[in-house]
Amino acid sequence: MPLGEQSAIYNLKSKIVVKMGGAAGVNLEVIAADVAALAQQGQQLVLVHGGSDETNKLSEQLGHPPRFVTSPSGFTSRYTDRATLEIFVMVTAGKINTLFVEALQKKGVNALGLSGVDGRLMEARRKEVIRAVENGKVRMLHDDHTGTIQTVNADLLQLLIGAGYMPVIAPLAISPEGVALNVDADRAAAMIAGALKADSLILLTNVPGLMCNFPDESTLIPHLERAGLEASLGFAKGRMKKKVLGASEALEHGVRQVIFADGRVTEPVQRALAGHGTIIS
Ligand code: ADP
Repeated sequence: MPLGEQSAIYNLKSKIVVKMGGAAGVNLEVIAADVAALAQQGQQLVLVHGGSDETNKLSEQLGHPPRFVTSPSGFTSRYTDRATLEIFVMVTAGKINTLFVEALQKKGVNALGLSGVDGRLMEARRKEVIRAVENGKVRMLHDDHTGTIQTVNADLLQLLIGAGYMPVIAPLAISPEGVALNVDADRAAAMIAGALKADSLILLTNVPGLMCNFPDESTLIPHLERAGLEASLGFAKGRMKKKVLGASEALEHGVRQVIFADGRVTEPVQRALAGHGTIIS
């Protein structure tokens, strides 16, 4: 899509879901200032954040080191036993969520923090048993507290937005039995954007976008058609795969464009909306 059309989308009072990566180099204050400027223009924003790196740090400090598993299809995720889930809650719904809300409040944005557990904002199916490839063999792991989001309570978000609050969402969901689950923040943002029929989903991270030949930044892909997403799973490595999957889910649910963009620059959201990064539509 040409850049002119891009800005046309965002000149309307558009709905924008922004996911802030947990990786180093992403600055809360900078993102808060950027979000505040957009809110002042009348854009409706919903924010989602991760917390992976901080969870790793706190897990080490608490003597319960993180453990990652790779599924037979090549996706890597955190093995989340109950103790890990509780650490994940402290970091995401506790520290990061509150500090993000604090940064936004300092900029005059009436942000309201919640996780997917609150008001059953995100319901997920628990992966009771996960299959992990270890030393070339597939093993079954039990007691995992991760989930795949099934539904998003869009009415609750609309209620908050309508009352003038900006929701800031931590990546936790609730199972039908009421158990809190760790969910992937990129895919949570995608499901939220889909439920809200958002105009844009912006995934801010610590790279300028999706690269054909990572880490060679000269191979940055500026624009990708939805049909080309499947093929891009081939060169998206590690956690980038989840973003590609999320992008695909969001577009499937009616989101108009997904942008992978650099979160380490000034005005990262406005830059993404102006066409910097990888735009998928
Ligand atoms: P965040 O925590 O910010 O959401 P992730 O670490 O989950 O970010 O995903 C971004 C990372 O994906 C990048 O830092 C990069 O190391 C990795 N990556 C893998 N393949 C690619 C690719 N093809 N293009 C860009 N980044 C990639």
